Amino acid sequence: MRLKFWGVRGSLPIPGKETLNYGGNTSCVEIDTGRKNETIIIDAGSGIKGLGQDLMDRGFCNENGIGYLFLSHYHLDHILGFPFFAPFFAKGENKNSFTIYGPKTKNDSLKEIINHLISAPFFPLSLNRLSAVLDFKEINPGEVIELPDMNISTERLNHPGGGLAYRFDSNNISVAYVTDTEPLNENKADSMIAGLVKNADVLIYDATYTPEEYVNKKGWGHSTWRHGITLANEASVKKLVLFHHDLDYSDERLAQIEKIAKKEFKDVEMAKEGMEIKL
Ligand SMILES: [Zn+2]
Ligand SMILES: [Zn+2]
Repeated sequence: MRLKFWGVRGSLPIPGKETLNYGGNTSCVEIDTGRKNETIIIDAGSGIKGLGQDLMDRGFCNENGIGYLFLSHYHLDHILGFPFFAPFFAKGENKNSFTIYGPKTKNDSLKEIINHLISAPFFPLSLNRLSAVLDFKEINPGEVIELPDMNISTERLNHPGGGLAYRFDSNNISVAYVTDTEPLNENKADSMIAGLVKNADVLIYDATYTPEEYVNKKGWGHSTWRHGITLANEASVKKLVLFHHDLDYSDERLAQIEKIAKKEFKDVEMAKEGMEIKL
C-alpha cells in the first residue's frame, strides 16, 4: 500500500510563495493498492485535481478504471475539487466506475448534494454530464464497508454538521483518516475515535490549530497537533501525520510546529503536498 497526499490544507486553497513547501491545496489523500486500474481516494478537496491528472497519465482509464471515493463530510474544502477530477470525464470505449461514500445527512441525499455542487448556479454541469458511472452510498457512523482486499471502519466526527472518520485495513496494514474533528476533552482521547485508530500504522489527524490558538477557537470543530499526540499515545498509533493545516499558517510556521511536535512523539510528520508513505 502507498499513501500520497495531494491536498493537506483546511478551509480554502492557498497558493503562493508562503505555502510552496507544505502546499496550498485542500484535503485529498490517495491510497494506492498497487492495482493499475483501481484507486481509493479520501476527500475531494482541490488536491484531487492533481490526482486525477496523475491517474490519467498512469493509464487508469485504459481498462475500465474502478474508483472508491470516501468523503469525510460536505464542507466545501473537502468536495470543491469534485468537478475537476479528469477520470469522471474521460472519453473512449472504456468506462470508469466510481463508488462515492459519504455520511448520511438528515436532509439531502449524497447524490443530491454532489449534483447541487456541480449544477447552476455554482457550476455549469449536472451528474448526467459525467462519462463515468457513479454509485452513491450513504454511511452511518459505525458501519463497515467491505472492498476486495480491504475493510473500512467508520466513526462519528465531532464537527459542525457531523462527518465520518475512516479506518482502512488491508493485509495487516491500517491507515486512519480523522479530520475535521474537535476533542470532547482537550487532554484525553475521545474513546470512540481512540477505538477506531487503535494500533494503526498511520493516523492522519486534524491538527488545524496550535494549542495556544485553539483556546480562541473552541467549538469550531477542529483539533491541535498536541491532541493528535495524546490520541496517538493512548491508541498506540505508530506514525502520526498532522493534517488539515490552517489556511493562515505559512511554511515557516508549519516547520516550527513540526519541530516542536517531533520532540513530543517519536514518529510524527507534518503532511506535505506530494508526500508519499509506503507501507
Ligand atoms: Zn475541512
Ligand atoms: Zn469541515
